[in-house]
Amino acid sequence: IRRNPGETEFHQAVEEVAEVVIPFAQANPEYLESSVITRLTEPDRAVIFRVTWEDDRGEVHVNRGYRVQFNNAIGPYKGGLRFHPSVNLSILKFLGFEQVLKNSLTTLPLGAAKGGADFDPKGKSDREVMRFCQAFMTELSHHIGPNRDIPAGDIGVGTREISYLFGQYKRMSQEFAGVLTGKELSFGGSLIRTEATGYGCAYFMQEMLEHRGDSVEGKTCVISGSGNVALYCAEKLISLGAHVITLSDSSGFIHDSDGIDAHKLAWLKDLKFRRRGRIEAYCEEFPDAHFYPDSPPWTVTCDLAFPCATQNELSEDDAECLLQNGCIGVAEGANMPSTKGAIRLFREAKISYGPGKAANAGGVAVSGFEMSQNSMRMAWTREDLEDRLRKTMCKVHSECVEYGQEKDHVDYVKGANIGGFIKVADAMLDFGVV
Ligand code: NDP
Repeated sequence: IRRNPGETEFHQAVEEVAEVVIPFAQANPEYLESSVITRLTEPDRAVIFRVTWEDDRGEVHVNRGYRVQFNNAIGPYKGGLRFHPSVNLSILKFLGFEQVLKNSLTTLPLGAAKGGADFDPKGKSDREVMRFCQAFMTELSHHIGPNRDIPAGDIGVGTREISYLFGQYKRMSQEFAGVLTGKELSFGGSLIRTEATGYGCAYFMQEMLEHRGDSVEGKTCVISGSGNVALYCAEKLISLGAHVITLSDSSGFIHDSDGIDAHKLAWLKDLKFRRRGRIEAYCEEFPDAHFYPDSPPWTVTCDLAFPCATQNELSEDDAECLLQNGCIGVAEGANMPSTKGAIRLFREAKISYGPGKAANAGGVAVSGFEMSQNSMRMAWTREDLEDRLRKTMCKVHSECVEYGQEKDHVDYVKGANIGGFIKVADAMLDFGVV
């Protein structure tokens, strides 16, 4: 805390990990050697830079760009870029730190990084977004490379932004290199990358429930967010026979007690991905649904909850409400969406609670597959990739069980943190004091 004053999100992420990793290290003293835990909490480097761009009226704007390269002990730096006005060093350090353990859990050779800018793509024209992305990449290109650091998307960075960023990198480097993931299929993207985080989150919930002899089929599900992760999580849950009744954005949530089906979801994808509209419009198209402004959906009675919007969107009070209403499982599509108090309640209640670093690892796993396909100059089929994604989520789940099994339940927080920690810590210890 003394070394990182004011970085509250970063402190929160480190504390959650330290609470289980320190007792583990005390029981396994080789992990107390060479300050490996402290070294893990310090990024390799953080680059901060000015991004200057011109809007459609010729006015000049200045934003702040970042890349936090956290740890490359087990592979090149890998992690998303976030464009959102709330972006700051604390948020990117928490995301980068989470990414270290998540990428390790996938069992793929991926290090960890996170980056972005305090730029808000909302309300900007395509040309303005393009000029911003080009200015951002002009500086970022000095720090990344296909064997060095391979960014991807995150909040506010989807296929459109990745395309502009890739175009600028290609122009500057004069090379066609797999330096970003989440690309369009026509220039090296992978099938199911867009769907992977949401699908993976639904698979992870299925794994947790199957482990206790249950299934998502027929369960009522509450989802927050309506971006990339939320909509594809909804899609997979619907195909697994679940009843999805809410989605949200930063203006509020919609509740459709009839259930969001494939037809309604297709309409939502068009609203969010093409027209870039607000969630409230759903109730004009489907008038039996209700819109609740300025609140998250956690008061709605459900069996399963999927926070898929942003950090700290599910408070201790929300967790209490979910538990009182009979919720038996929570899988985090977003990174660190539950506050410390909420996590404590979920763990005490011993429900199936899958923290983000395990439940949303499907996205980075398919990014890893995109890198493999780019290196081989090949494209795998949808069936092959879906199969690999399902197997990866199954492996992540098994690792959580291996390290998190308690007498009468699985503590997924413990399992994910220890499972992710061991591989990276072992590599760092093997490297000596570096
Ligand atoms: P998107 O930008 O596609 O969607 C984000 C969604 O969350 C939008 O509906 C947005 O609403 C909502 N949201 C954002 N900020 C807030 C807020 N402060 N309050 C309420 N709602 C908010 O992002 P993604 O779906 O890609 O990412 C969502 C989460 O998943 C993030 O935590 C991200 O780090 C995590 N994640 C994403 C991965 C990926 O592959 N994309 C991989 C692993 C994790 P609005 O449009 O109104 O802002």
